[in-house]
Amino acid sequence: MSVIAWIGLGKMGLPMAQQLLKAGHSVRGVEINPAVAKLAEEAGIPVFSAWTEAIAGADAVITMLPTGQHVRDLLTGAEGLFATVTSDVIVIDSSTIDTGTAQELHVLAAARDIRFVDAPVSGGVGGAAAGTLTFMVGGTEDALSIATPIIEPMAAKIVHTGIGGTGQAAKIVNNMIFGVCLAATCEGVLLGTRLGLDPAVFYQIATSSSGDNFPLRNWYPAPGVVESAPSSHDYEPGFTSALLLKDLTLAVQAGEQTGTELNSASVVQKLYAQMVEDGGGALDCTALLPSLAGDLVDGKAVTSGVPVRT
Ligand code: NAD
Repeated sequence: MSVIAWIGLGKMGLPMAQQLLKAGHSVRGVEINPAVAKLAEEAGIPVFSAWTEAIAGADAVITMLPTGQHVRDLLTGAEGLFATVTSDVIVIDSSTIDTGTAQELHVLAAARDIRFVDAPVSGGVGGAAAGTLTFMVGGTEDALSIATPIIEPMAAKIVHTGIGGTGQAAKIVNNMIFGVCLAATCEGVLLGTRLGLDPAVFYQIATSSSGDNFPLRNWYPAPGVVESAPSSHDYEPGFTSALLLKDLTLAVQAGEQTGTELNSASVVQKLYAQMVEDGGGALDCTALLPSLAGDLVDGKAVTSGVPVRT
């Protein structure tokens, strides 16, 4: 049994931390949103008002925060977490952040003799709730061996991606491919509907044809076809459009930094930027379908059952 401080108990963090509770670990939470903190307390995770209290006596610290800036603000600086934890504590960042920040965090941690891994995840809130996430872990073999037993209850697969920052590289590339597949799926469903196809019929065809892909199969963007998909629940996230825009932006920036032309990802990033500007940032990323159809009004998808306005 380990004592684990968990910082950021949002849509992913809370169900992930619950897997650690189930595995018999003691979890000490930190969460700045009072409504979210209440949910964590109800789930049996004590929430501390200061991270300095939560990490007292902890064997591991896990961060699951929105952006690289959040992670940097917490971990770095004279009064940051790296300057405060003892070197026997493993620090695991499972947020999705840019590779540059992740690499910088590895350098800062190494300078203080702290074991640190970048360990972003794939699998969404469903995978978090089921304990079946894929973890992509960048860092030294030594840090990985200490992080692995902590990560195991939350994971179906743990892959050592290589040196510090490569976990984030894998995550950004994966989500870029996801975003492009999702946008192509939304455009395909929209076009098919305008050509007279029933989206449910098209689902049957695409899932056994070459157009099949993960978001199409699992998170079909037209409502009422896949019962568990966010589209069938008023596009409640799930994985918000704002977070997908963040990931696509990280990919496009990484493309610029490495001289890699990312034509399709750049277009999809613009589609999500428009959707977020139109007030759809809090909706599930599959609400790109009503956004493309002109059916996003006041941040809500106004269609019900029928995916497009003709
Ligand atoms: P979320 O916004 O629901 O959760 C983040 C939580 O961190 C929020 O509740 C916020 O209040 C809290 N927080 C922010 N700053 C804090 C601080 N200083 N101290 C304590 N708490 C703080 O986001 P999420 O969907 O859980 O995603 C978290 C991370 O995981 C993101 O980096 C995201 O890109 C990544 N991710 C999300 C999904 C998904 O499907 N939602 C899947 C894989 C990866």
